[in-house]
Amino acid sequence: MAKGLCIVISGPSGVGKGTVIKKFKDDPELKLSYSVSMTTRKMREGEQEGVNYYFVTREDFEQAVEKGELLEYTEFVGNYYGTPLKGIEKIREEGRNVILEIEVDGCMQVKKKIPDALTIFIVPPSMEELERRIRGRATEPEELVQERLAKAQREMEMTSHYKYVICNDDAQLAADIIKVIIERHMQKEGLC
Ligand code: 5GP
Repeated sequence: MAKGLCIVISGPSGVGKGTVIKKFKDDPELKLSYSVSMTTRKMREGEQEGVNYYFVTREDFEQAVEKGELLEYTEFVGNYYGTPLKGIEKIREEGRNVILEIEVDGCMQVKKKIPDALTIFIVPPSMEELERRIRGRATEPEELVQERLAKAQREMEMTSHYKYVICNDDAQLAADIIKVIIERHMQKEGLC
């Protein structure tokens, strides 16, 4: 059986990656499994352990790195984020597609290890709109908002490293476009 796709979705913080992904991730035709990352950041309201992230201490995270348990990892706005290796290969061996929602440094690491990863970058309609969305979330102090905005600027300069760049002006439209991209790649790889 052909191995499932490794799909990486990036985009600046606040661009609405989660909202877009939610609209297609349970579509049975896409045979997707979401990779749950490990992070040292605090749980936000509404988030669930093992669903949004595995919330761990810095000590636990550093141990996972030492043991080689992560496909990639990075430090983002003072916290670690990483993709556990366990599970990803199993999902792909079963012919299912795995979806990683990670930032650009992580994507560059994944591309080195999995050169045929399907990489998609989501951009906001404008930087002004992105700032509005980040501030609208209002869960963080101004200093962190500024850090996220600065990181967003740097991330936007990395779009040329991605196979596809999709604008999230309308989340349903962005999700529909991504669905078509995944289906075409599944056809190409003989996965449907
Ligand atoms: P947030 O704190 O908003 O949940 O996530 C911050 C950033 O970290 C987002 O851009 C998100 O995509 C990214 N991220 C989440 N999990 C991972 C991961 O496992 N690895 C990397 N490199 N980035 C991640």
